Amino acid sequence: MHPARPETTPGPVSRHSWQAALARGLRDPAELLAALGLTAAECGLGEAVMARDGAAAFPLRVPLGFVARMRPGDPLDPLLLQVLPSPAEGQSVPGFGADPVGDLASARSPGLLQKYAGRALLITTGACAIHCRYCFRRDYPYAEHSAAASHLESSLQVIAADTSLEEVILSGGDPLVLGEKRLEDLLLSIDKLTHVKRIRLHSRVPVVLPERVDSRLLTLLGSLRSQVVVVIHANHSQEIDGDVSQALRALAAVTGPLLNQAVLLRGINDSSRVLVALSRALFGAGVLPYYLHQLDPVAGTAHFAVPDSTAVALLAEVLAQLPGYLVPKLVRETAGKPAKTPLGSFGTT
Ligand SMILES: *Cc1c(COP(=O)(O)O)cnc(C)c1O
Ligand code: SF4
Repeated sequence: MHPARPETTPGPVSRHSWQAALARGLRDPAELLAALGLTAAECGLGEAVMARDGAAAFPLRVPLGFVARMRPGDPLDPLLLQVLPSPAEGQSVPGFGADPVGDLASARSPGLLQKYAGRALLITTGACAIHCRYCFRRDYPYAEHSAAASHLESSLQVIAADTSLEEVILSGGDPLVLGEKRLEDLLLSIDKLTHVKRIRLHSRVPVVLPERVDSRLLTLLGSLRSQVVVVIHANHSQEIDGDVSQALRALAAVTGPLLNQAVLLRGINDSSRVLVALSRALFGAGVLPYYLHQLDPVAGTAHFAVPDSTAVALLAEVLAQLPGYLVPKLVRETAGKPAKTPLGSFGTT
């Protein structure tokens, strides 16, 4: 991801408190460790990772509110491990590449991906409020393939001309870091296309930057003709504190039930105890578990991978402990398939 995308560069005056909170996010590993009372040695980090490198392809980025939910003094904190760069990212592992799920091949126009019937996914920006080390889009060529500026118009034309598209998914990056005006214009342009019944937002922002869920956003979402479906992304119950719950409940009051997608991550949520706690915390905040994704094999993320056999066994343990509606679907994305592929109790593996 490019470090200097216009919509995340703090302007001279931060008019909105969420933009100020976004701009205050940490970008320096040394600052993050200092905030938690940890040393680089305790976290197994050498100088290469610690050197603050604004030009790095995927630098550290984490909002202060998310840092506040980490346990001080714990180098294995499950929130810290999601954002702290690791020397393991430099390892090249067979099978882990740049475009593992066929995103580029599925583009109908630059920044508009369609893999499945009736729904298409619009890359709205390359920017995110947080940089998750396991991210499946970390190598996506956002500069050429985002709906930013010039590409957006052609993507909207494709959507307008294809009445089989009843759902448009705004993704990224993260659509909720777009500037207010750009998000409004985009949502209103899609909302005008009467064959579009649902607009879906895929966003980690309500979890990592709950300040973003302000009255202007709620009013905007509430004003649309289309049904709005918000799919958030949390991987661990510790991510959901009081502020996050409040933001999620406010969103749900406007859009209806929220859904969550999580990624199964070694050392972070690969135990049934943690997965059960996540489902309970989500539902407590008005969110249903939707997908538990097997990691996409993106270069630099192999150290987070959990074998399918382990994942299936974990899901069986979760199923034995929770009502069915609190059990996410364990899925893997495979290029060329007509849907995400279910694994385990819901599938065939
Ligand atoms: C994952 C994905 C979707 C959403 O799939 P659902 O099963 O509807 O949640 C849609 N389009 C693309 C390109 C995707 O990768
Ligand atoms: S918020 Fe989503 S798109 Fe952004 S870095 Fe994290 S996983 Fe990737």
